[in-house]
Amino acid sequence: DSRIEGFDPELAKAISSERQRQEDHVELIASENYASPRVLEAQGSVLTNKYAEGYPGKRYYGGCEYVDVAETLAIERVKQLFDCDYANVQPHSGSQANQAVYFALLNPGDTILGMSLAHGGHLTHGAKVNLSGKLFNAVQYGVDANGLIDYDEVQRLASEHKPKMLIGGFSAYSQVVDWARMRKIADSVGALFFVDMAHVAGLVAAGVYPSPLPHAHVVTSTTHKTLRGPRGGIVVAKGAGAEIEKKLQSIVFPALQGGPLMHVIAAKAVAFKEALDPEFKTYQAQVVKNAQAMAKTFIGRGYKIVSGGTENHLMLIDLIVRDVTGKDAEAALGNAHITVNKNAVPNDPRSPFITSGLRVGTPAVTTRGYKETDCVDLTNWICDVLDAPTDADVIAKVRDKVTVQCKAFPVYG
Ligand code: PLP
Repeated sequence: DSRIEGFDPELAKAISSERQRQEDHVELIASENYASPRVLEAQGSVLTNKYAEGYPGKRYYGGCEYVDVAETLAIERVKQLFDCDYANVQPHSGSQANQAVYFALLNPGDTILGMSLAHGGHLTHGAKVNLSGKLFNAVQYGVDANGLIDYDEVQRLASEHKPKMLIGGFSAYSQVVDWARMRKIADSVGALFFVDMAHVAGLVAAGVYPSPLPHAHVVTSTTHKTLRGPRGGIVVAKGAGAEIEKKLQSIVFPALQGGPLMHVIAAKAVAFKEALDPEFKTYQAQVVKNAQAMAKTFIGRGYKIVSGGTENHLMLIDLIVRDVTGKDAEAALGNAHITVNKNAVPNDPRSPFITSGLRVGTPAVTTRGYKETDCVDLTNWICDVLDAPTDADVIAKVRDKVTVQCKAFPVYG
């Protein structure tokens, strides 16, 4: 049988069950989204068969004339999208894009200054358990008592530790980062300024969040979060100069990776074309409006949002003073078919496996078509569960309402 279903019913069931889960559950994980059928089509195409080590026009394999077209389209489109002059679309993931930047521009043992995981940064920004924290001397900044990036602290740490690279970007921060101020801090100590815009790349592309490109020496992103493409990474830069660009190219391939995933690169090209469409601006503006409607509703119901609100697609709900932990809240909401992730909040007294917070984001529900009123309803149901996380009756009632709401907004139909 040429179809998975006839050949491997066990796996077929897992795939169809996952598809059904995506239809039946409301997705609030801030780093997730639903790629379009066109993106899925490219990713499931015969381009997966092709080896294409090298870059368009300079390959180590024959037969690359058509995959060259796909990669060139992806490169040109992403440069247009972010108004920049350098792009590498080959990194297999956001983490590998970040590794490429580190190994291109630093030496092992160099000092880096990034946002700590506990305060909203990413593992790859110098966390001890990540290679970025093992191979480099990682110093970490965080947020102040109001949940805002403490730029004075960033400056103080930069002046004290003289990092070779300052890292901007985050996985759990709901405010606008002052990229110009960060660049000034980097310049004051002669550091390179690198921004990982993975979480806000879609917002940046649509012009609803400030672009780091004019300020950073180099920028990376994933392509599957707000950008709504296939799972993968990119490195982009504006005015970085030939020397930095050459280093980035040769680190991605051949230093770090072998053959590029040409089917994923084709899917990136599709996603970038979708993001260049005016409709994408409307979508991203709605992502932010939905997040702000949710934050306002949480606050109205007595829940604390770290930093007091949101200016992007996500927010952190602070449960430090509540009886419910992040872990238990995640599980209770999961039973109501609402998917969120537990997340440490600044100065969290609980362990990273338990946590005192939830991270909530609106990219996926907005792709389904949710508007502010739908998000307000949903937030009220979330609060009903958080108010009574062990009450099976409350959870069942919320699950029923979520089921009706999900049916009204099919993902793939
Ligand atoms: N950078 C940031 C800011 C992220 O939030 C993430 C993923 O959550 C990554 C990088 C890593 O991306 P990937 O999972 O593709 O390695």
